[in-house]
Amino acid sequence: MSDNDPKPEGSVDQWRLNNARHLAGLTLHFGRFTRWNENWDHDHCAACWAKFAESDEPDVQHEGYTTGPDYRKGAGYEWVRSTCVADLANGLGWKSTSKGRNPG
Ligand SMILES: [Zn+2]
Repeated sequence: MSDNDPKPEGSVDQWRLNNARHLAGLTLHFGRFTRWNENWDHDHCAACWAKFAESDEPDVQHEGYTTGPDYRKGAGYEWVRSTCVADLANGLGWKSTSKGRNPG
């Protein structure tokens, strides 16, 4: 059978929370993934390790939420996919913004 038990609504996978705990309290900015430098062509979601890349491979994320200037390692350093931001924002105190748009 499956080892994926149905989750009660609103529950959060603890492992994703633990993975992303170093980003707690930050404001995350929605945008298109761009590579950090020439030698670093992909990244992974800080929570679930989903792959971010600029290439058109299947199962890669092309946009998501990234750290801003309030992160000690810098803007654009860490990436989190949208679904993880939605799931973990309450638990980690994330605020999120969309570039070019003012929410609300
Ligand atoms: Zn994720």
